[in-house]
Amino acid sequence: MIALALAALALAAPPKPHIVWKPIPYGATRRAEMAAYSEKHYGVHSWVLHPRAIVEHVTATNSFSSVYNTFAADVPDSELHELPGTCAHFVIDRDGTVYQLVPLNVMCRHTVGLNWVAIGIEHVGLSDAEVMQDAAQMRSSLALTAWLMWRYSIPLANVIGHNESLTSPLHKELYAPWRCQTHADWQHADMVVYRAKLAALARSDGLTVGPTFRPRPSGC
Ligand SMILES: [Zn+2]
Repeated sequence: MIALALAALALAAPPKPHIVWKPIPYGATRRAEMAAYSEKHYGVHSWVLHPRAIVEHVTATNSFSSVYNTFAADVPDSELHELPGTCAHFVIDRDGTVYQLVPLNVMCRHTVGLNWVAIGIEHVGLSDAEVMQDAAQMRSSLALTAWLMWRYSIPLANVIGHNESLTSPLHKELYAPWRCQTHADWQHADMVVYRAKLAALARSDGLTVGPTFRPRPSGC
């Protein structure tokens, strides 16, 4: 019986996409900075990630190398001026290549309010629309996200765009000046389309995805 149940689960697994491991430096200093950040913003002194959500991003740049260099440099970010430097777990290039920069049990700074629970996926491009029109990039993005949903039992309701961050029930920000901080990438209307495609792919892989994301009033 157990063997049969395991076989059924294995059948329900979406195929793991090809991932190019291209780690950024994330040694003891950066981990300590992440733990300090986590304490200030989430009340937990830890850099360890237990993924419960996925946040989709657009880089607003044209090349993977510029994104990689920004994330590799552990310097205060240009907008909020804190350490560690910003990063994302994955970057998907225009040709659909999936790069992984950080292990999935390590927090990255990619979304204020959600870094304590969220895997970050960046898409090289200038806008949501540009990414959505890129068939290779979208194919990789949906395949990677579906596989991560299966791997960490993440429901469709916790796959959001960066611009939806404030309306996620998982959003938590203890530092008052940042409580309403978000970015413009992956607007709700675009994520409605993205999630519909994702749900269709995940279901075709045999995954149960649950209800879709419903934004909560943020008070911002
Ligand atoms: Zn973003």
